[in-house]
Amino acid sequence: MPTIHLNGQFLPLEEARISVMDRGFLFGDGVYEVIPVYSRRPFRLHEHLARLQASLDGIRLTNPHTPREWENLVVRIIEQAEGEDQGIYLQVTRGAGPRDHAFPKEVQPTVFILPLALIPPARELVESGVAAITAPDNRWLRCDIKATSLLPNVLLRQLSVDAGCAETLLLREGFLSEGSASNVFVVAEGVLLAPPKSNLMLPGITYDVVLELARAHGIAHATRPIHENELRAAEEVWLTSSTKEVLAVTTLDGQPVGDGRPGPLFRKMHAAYQDYKHTVMRGKEIA
Ligand code: PMP
Repeated sequence: MPTIHLNGQFLPLEEARISVMDRGFLFGDGVYEVIPVYSRRPFRLHEHLARLQASLDGIRLTNPHTPREWENLVVRIIEQAEGEDQGIYLQVTRGAGPRDHAFPKEVQPTVFILPLALIPPARELVESGVAAITAPDNRWLRCDIKATSLLPNVLLRQLSVDAGCAETLLLREGFLSEGSASNVFVVAEGVLLAPPKSNLMLPGITYDVVLELARAHGIAHATRPIHENELRAAEEVWLTSSTKEVLAVTTLDGQPVGDGRPGPLFRKMHAAYQDYKHTVMRGKEIA
């Protein structure tokens, strides 16, 4: 039973209790982060905390902690958790109050931190790639906020599960936005492309790492809108997220992507990503 953090206390998960009037429960009125931990070192912690701040600003909720306080809380959870590699889930909701859509006047936010097992994709998946489907992106227009109200993402992700696939790639007005729980890259005419950050997608921490690695390794790349036709004609399609790292999509809506195997740029990026992870694990942040 992991030790969790709830509103200033460290306690076993089974003893953690929150009010049924919590606005996270009633309205999904909260935001969250998932921070990977490798060899007990949080990966890109400051970037995750900066995105948490942006999400809190996006829902007009005052950050209950300074970055230093967050860091201390996360470090204590890591120390008490089992396993060298972990995924630290943290969430802040607007707290408990009378059931009214409008913000309560005086309310204490609910802060919850939970260590999860972090299992990187199996080698076979890295080598075979995964199947994905597409679906219309029917989410709201603030997908840049990492909100706990994930019902549209849940429904979209389930479409891929129902189809025996790993992810649902989302198309809005003919353009690729992201996956239901990942960002998406494509390779077209040898150039690595990703949709530009906007309100239509989550600014992924892994997305940033992949673009930095592309720069560092001299891989031609650009961020610009990607039309559905370019996605379908792409030589390579990749998913990125803190838990998936970089994974190749080798089948899209039942059609092979490229020759149906992970492509050469994917293999290069996957190796670069693993190297980078190991560098960070040895305590030497790059560039
Ligand atoms: N988009 C969505 C909708 C996600 O849920 C995630 C994963 N949390 C991502 C992108 C990837 O973000 P990150 O690389 O920070 O995990």
